[in-house]
Amino acid sequence: FLPHLVASMEQVDETYIMVKPDGVQRGLVGEIISRFEKKGFKLTGLKLFQCPKELAEEHYKDLKAKPFFPGLIDYITSGPVVCMAWEGVGVVASARKLIGSTDPLKAEPGTIRGDLAVQTGRNVVHGSDSPENGKREIGLWFKEGELCQWTPAQAPWLRE
Ligand code: UDP
Ligand code: MG
Repeated sequence: FLPHLVASMEQVDETYIMVKPDGVQRGLVGEIISRFEKKGFKLTGLKLFQCPKELAEEHYKDLKAKPFFPGLIDYITSGPVVCMAWEGVGVVASARKLIGSTDPLKAEPGTIRGDLAVQTGRNVVHGSDSPENGKREIGLWFKEGELCQWTPAQAPWLRE
């Protein structure tokens, strides 16, 4: 009974994952979703979305002073993105590992950026960098009623 109690007390986090416009244009949506799906995380939100400039600026507000900021905003608003919310124990850090380093040439093979991209400015996917930012970004990109709470049939086969 004790191990069960400990397992149920493990912190479930949420992360915001986004296929950027280059990932959509290059037909990588299915491939990218499938990496998180196969790992065993739970999808709680999913939509194709044309991002307005104001939202892109709010999402990346911490980078406002960077020289690449205007180019980054142009890039993110240049075509539809796929917005996703994923949930699970350790999902924020694990998703960052699955995504790989910001610079795809430095990202390890086996990671999304390591396998599918060559340049920082076209690195195909976004993932939140902390549980706090996960919550903040899901709140920014999704409206109430767009997220689903559900129990995947595979749940008992993923965690003891
Ligand atoms: N970026 C860029 N040039 C840089 C650094 C970052 O174009 O020199 C872009 C890139 O798309 C990156 C995003 O800005 O994914 C956010 O930067 P951050 O450092 O937060 O990287 P991430 O968390 O996405 O790995
Ligand atoms: Mg970041």
